[in-house]
Amino acid sequence: MRLDKLLANMAVGSRKEVKQLLKAKKVTLNNHVVKDGSIKVNPDIDNIHVDGEPVIYQEFIYLMLHKPPGVVSATVDAKDKTVIDLLSEQERHFQPFPVGRLDKDTEGLLLITNDGDLGHHLTSPNKNIPKMYRAKVKGDLPRDVIQQFADGVTLEDGYFTKPAKLEILSVDEESGISEVQIEITEGKFHQIKRMFEAVQGKVIYLKRHRMGELTLDDQLARGAYRPLTEEEVAYCY
Ligand code: URA
Repeated sequence: MRLDKLLANMAVGSRKEVKQLLKAKKVTLNNHVVKDGSIKVNPDIDNIHVDGEPVIYQEFIYLMLHKPPGVVSATVDAKDKTVIDLLSEQERHFQPFPVGRLDKDTEGLLLITNDGDLGHHLTSPNKNIPKMYRAKVKGDLPRDVIQQFADGVTLEDGYFTKPAKLEILSVDEESGISEVQIEITEGKFHQIKRMFEAVQGKVIYLKRHRMGELTLDDQLARGAYRPLTEEEVAYCY
């Protein structure tokens, strides 16, 4: 890879700024000043410094975001703020995308990466990756709702869902609101909301806590994010 391209990719600066740094003799390659940005480098073996600081080459980023409600799971949107808008400029430089979608009003665990293979692995329908959510549902749920969800329910468009694990955590008789935990292995559009609609319930709050082996870090406030640990990245494959 060309040295100037590597430096620009690592967000050391724009192409123009990188050129200026090279001209100002601020860049060293294996302890020698280099001014020629077209020189080919191997990020695995070459030592590159800018202003005495090492440049660590990184191809992929993996971020765990606590998605807040009110932002959309997309890279760009004409109307709404996206989850990518929550990241720093340096992170956006990697051209990351959200892995799968949460509705605008849903909060919780969202993985953001530029690693297409990992994204594909986690969202591929035949991989059956379990996703665990907590929800508040309004309406009297049928007595056998746990069994119905375990057997599969028919959504309004005729789609028959795969088995889902439902746990009722609490029921408030006065407000008619139940708190539930649900695990699904698919990711159809508005799936959980539509599953509850199929049994006359209305989801009024939804948060994702887990996707495969990855659990939302409870230290992350809404809208906050952090890099995945190496161990967490390994879980995702
Ligand atoms: N199911 C939904 O209905 N919405 C989400 O955001 C995720 C799962």
